[in-house]
Amino acid sequence: MATINDNYLKLKAGYLFPEIARRVNAFAEAHPEAKIIKLGIGDVTEPLPEACRQAMIKAVEEMGDRATFKGYGPEQGYAWLREKIALQDFQARGCEIDASEIFVSDGSKCDTGNILDIFGHNNTIAVTDPVYPVYVDTNVMAGHTGDVNEKGEYQGLVYLPMTAENNFTPDLPDQKVDLIYLCFPNNPTGATATREDLTKWVNYAKENGSIIFFDAAYEAFITDGSLPHSIYEIEGARDCAIEFRSFSKNAGFTGTRCALTVVPKTLKAKAANGEDVDLWKLWNRRQSTKFNGVSYLVQRGAEAVYSEEGQAQVKALINFYLENAQIICDKLSFAGLNVYGGVNAPYVWVKTPEGLSSWDFFDKLLQSANVVGTPGSGFGAAGESYFRISAFNSRENVEEATRRIIEKLKV
Ligand code: PLP
Repeated sequence: MATINDNYLKLKAGYLFPEIARRVNAFAEAHPEAKIIKLGIGDVTEPLPEACRQAMIKAVEEMGDRATFKGYGPEQGYAWLREKIALQDFQARGCEIDASEIFVSDGSKCDTGNILDIFGHNNTIAVTDPVYPVYVDTNVMAGHTGDVNEKGEYQGLVYLPMTAENNFTPDLPDQKVDLIYLCFPNNPTGATATREDLTKWVNYAKENGSIIFFDAAYEAFITDGSLPHSIYEIEGARDCAIEFRSFSKNAGFTGTRCALTVVPKTLKAKAANGEDVDLWKLWNRRQSTKFNGVSYLVQRGAEAVYSEEGQAQVKALINFYLENAQIICDKLSFAGLNVYGGVNAPYVWVKTPEGLSSWDFFDKLLQSANVVGTPGSGFGAAGESYFRISAFNSRENVEEATRRIIEKLKV
């Protein structure tokens, strides 16, 4: 009989979101009159920018004419898109990134998981705690961990806590690690990293021969001019970092699907025979073999993000969600809660009131205010006693939810 990849059996049963759904459904059944507002998930709610829609409509028409029809495109993405990304996202910010170092893909979720294909199985891997769960689960699937303990931590991973005590900036590991996942602005805490913070990590990586996986899915939410948008704004990062970006949260492409990964040609890692190998070549080979490119229509839609109208429309979308985040921060603070994030990020990270666990607070909010958020403990052990509220929603829902929270929870 065929056998399975036993590593899948080590995965914690997709516990968080099914458990949230179970509790919400049970409450809704018992209280059919309750108007439940969900501020739990990180999916966008507002429509695609007009510039992107128009570009995609035009691209559909091109596909209907033999003269302009497109079949398979380059696996790495069309040059016209890669060039705009390189110029506007990176070179305009002083980063030495060339279009050939950009790989267009259908999502950062896939890329942050797939990147492990080009790395060995004996690396020591560090993740922050709390963490975007994809980083952990893809390492479990690849056999890079042992079993999970009762705190939800996998044997073999190095966890770097991010809590109010360290201002949600993880400390350098006290052991040597080879691969490091960093995500700023952060999901779930909404924390940001300063130039000094990132410099510390780049220096560590260069000293230890480590590679940083820098997830910048939320970079468009940075409004503080002093904060870096890309790890390549830090000197030396070209030699130690891979960056992931997505059109999901800036241009609302969660359902349209487009993202990119930057693999600098200067990046190297060791082969078993001791040789230094170019990671660009391996990723290029991986993508050419296992991926056939993003749809032409979607790439045209993504290209429109870089037009003048596209830039203005994306800015308006970001401002809308940031205003939601501001309302959540203000109202929850007024209700007596300690809130973090929500300024350069679409997530507000709330400290649960004294004595309440993340799940206790989830139940209290659901039952008293009929509002759903995400228990922080679902993102890692250090997320216990925190709670994530997402700013991705309509203004009406955000105002109504925060009004109810003040009415029911104000101390
Ligand atoms: N990285 C982080 C930190 C995220 O929070 C998300 C989505 O929520 C993603 C990546 C996934 O992005 P994409 O939609 O491009 O797969």
